[in-house]
Amino acid sequence: MVIDAHLHCTGRETATDVMRSLDDAGIDVGVLLAPFLSDGYSLGDAASLRRANDHLATLVHGHGDRLRGLAVVNPLHPGATDDLQRAVDAGLSGVKMVPSGWFPHDDRVQSTLALAARLKLPMLFHAGIFIDGRSGRYCRPVEFEALREHPGARVTLAHLGWPWTDEAIALGLIDLINGVPPHQAMFRFDLSFGPPPSYRLEVLRRALEVLGPGLLQFGSDCFLPCPGEEIASRRGVLQALLDELQADDATRQSIWCDTAAAWLGLPCRP
Ligand SMILES: [Zn+2]
Repeated sequence: MVIDAHLHCTGRETATDVMRSLDDAGIDVGVLLAPFLSDGYSLGDAASLRRANDHLATLVHGHGDRLRGLAVVNPLHPGATDDLQRAVDAGLSGVKMVPSGWFPHDDRVQSTLALAARLKLPMLFHAGIFIDGRSGRYCRPVEFEALREHPGARVTLAHLGWPWTDEAIALGLIDLINGVPPHQAMFRFDLSFGPPPSYRLEVLRRALEVLGPGLLQFGSDCFLPCPGEEIASRRGVLQALLDELQADDATRQSIWCDTAAAWLGLPCRP
């Protein structure tokens, strides 16, 4: 079983499109993010995010075995906690947030983080630099230490926090040092690139050596609707790196499925 733990909706896709793309790419479960980067949707516009979450809730409805929908909220918006609760009530099962103009330790965002932790929602955060020129300073992995104020939070940091991959690995290591098993750790990392090609092999080697595969999961970071080949080709990039590192079957099983399944609270079929 293969989970793509990072797929963007744009608002233009239908459940049929998504299913076809997943089938063509050999993906069993897709973790879909409500649209926030495409026309008509913006992190600065709370009403557009409510529309985005409604769109996604409708899309995933009846497809719980294949699709997981992550609401997008901007915790700086005054109604963010209500919007998150509403999205969960509508059928979304996790939340994606993008620190931009706020740090995870910011007092103004604690109520939203607390709600997500209390509901045991899988949380996905952008981590690392932005490609659109926004400041990445809010998204350095070390900033996410603030989540430790919310015990029980289940967090994935995207892109292994590139270019701060050492910082991300250090953050992930703390739970392991303290004897927390990977599937119960607070932080895990998605291998959606992230690091430009010349960094990838070394970054993945280090992450595997230090964290092990139980804190690493695949995410294509593709924008739907897209042909399955696009998702498959991103999967192929990771596959080639794993081949080059001579990763064993257990390592691959974790990265393709087990790590994300534990984060999502899903059983991982063989
Ligand atoms: Zn993304």
